Amino acid sequence: MTVISSEELKEIKFKGTQVAYAVVCPRKLWLFSRGIALEHSSDRVALGKFVDEVSFRGKEGFSDENVSIDFITIDDELVVHEIKLSSSLEEAHEVQIKYYIYYLRLKGARVSYGLLHYPRLRKIKRVEFGKEDEAKIEEILARLEKTLELPEPPPVINAPYCKKCAYYELCYG
Ligand code: SF4
Repeated sequence: MTVISSEELKEIKFKGTQVAYAVVCPRKLWLFSRGIALEHSSDRVALGKFVDEVSFRGKEGFSDENVSIDFITIDDELVVHEIKLSSSLEEAHEVQIKYYIYYLRLKGARVSYGLLHYPRLRKIKRVEFGKEDEAKIEEILARLEKTLELPEPPPVINAPYCKKCAYYELCYG
């Protein structure tokens, strides 16, 4: 059962990237959300965009003022697809695709699972939206909102994946 009121539902305006960053690193979420966007200068991001374009050319994406979904297909219901370069942040990828499912369901769509594509690994992972996921996404959204209210960026997290982060120089330089 949702814990967010119908009024608040209208206010949900987060990008999938923000939801994923809320899981990966609150500092990254804060920096990205303040427009300190270094992602475009990262070679990894450029490579990811290239892989998306080459591997899934012709697929229909979906975007509105909030979310931008790589592509959607229709089986008995809608199926959300996200394309990722590597599976090293798989938990964040799962949360991102579940957020898209959550978001589409709020809009009235019938959708219960998504597929994560890792073309470079020749891997596809099915992600089910379970009963507990609604509350889980809402908890992450609440945490995300609190992080964005902070006047200064949260501290660095010294995670193994920091070295691959587009903000590495900013955080540790
Ligand atoms: S380098 Fe590490 S601490 Fe800095 S934003 Fe990226 S993940 Fe967060």
